[in-house]
Amino acid sequence: MTIGTPEAAAKAVDFYADQGATSFKAYTNLTRAELGAAIQAAHRRGLKVTGHLCSVTLREAADLGIDDIEHGFMAASDFKANKQPDLCPGGGTSEAELAADPAKADALLDYLVQKKVAYTSTLAVRDTARNSPGIEVYAPDVRALFENNRRQPKSSPDAPMPSGLKQLVGFAKAFYDKGGLLLVGTDPTGGGGVVPGFANHTEIENLVQGGFRFEEAIKASTLNGAAYLGRAEKIGTVAAGKQADLVLIAGDPSTDVRDVRKVEIVFKEGVGYDPKKLIDAVRGKAGLY
Ligand SMILES: [Zn+2]
Repeated sequence: MTIGTPEAAAKAVDFYADQGATSFKAYTNLTRAELGAAIQAAHRRGLKVTGHLCSVTLREAADLGIDDIEHGFMAASDFKANKQPDLCPGGGTSEAELAADPAKADALLDYLVQKKVAYTSTLAVRDTARNSPGIEVYAPDVRALFENNRRQPKSSPDAPMPSGLKQLVGFAKAFYDKGGLLLVGTDPTGGGGVVPGFANHTEIENLVQGGFRFEEAIKASTLNGAAYLGRAEKIGTVAAGKQADLVLIAGDPSTDVRDVRKVEIVFKEGVGYDPKKLIDAVRGKAGLY
């Protein structure tokens, strides 16, 4: 459905909500009026709107009542020198653009916290030079797509954190420390080398390597997501009367975060699964369907 007017934006939200959609993600080319209409339509039905924005700045989206922003400051056109209202200047926001005005970045984080906008960091997409765990589950042509289109040359998992990634973790940490609701996302986009599930581990590692305590990284990855979804009463922590899927880890990720990958058993809805068997079952197939 192509959105061309605020009315069409509201209509699209109503249409998909009627089909059972439970949340909405706005994308890069909506106008402020369209995004505002979509947010209002969603909120009328008690549903939330997140956004991978560009034509609308994060500050403008906060003013329009958006609930969450995707990709943190990676998609913050607030820092683009040539930004015109309602138009996407193209490209992501670079490390240099984000570094140019630290006071502005800090003020924007304050504003997002004040407006109760959640912030989803998708750090793993900036760590594929060091890390692409789980890549072996990709179908060969999907894997080739990633290997042939790497944004950065392959390094090693022991290499220092790339500076752009470090900067992005820094923004996530500042947002968290200001009291913002930080969420963990992964942005698994096929040829991007970010594999669902595996990338969640990368994200937790990135947070810890960037200065979060392990417990804080786990909270951002679990309880905060539940809170955003309005489900924290039922899920998100292990407590009497709540529901939980659990993993059993052969190690202590609170002392070495990389142990978070040493998953022995996954319990989902009370049934234990062997992750090795599950991964073997999809090896070379992910991305085919
Ligand atoms: Zn996105």
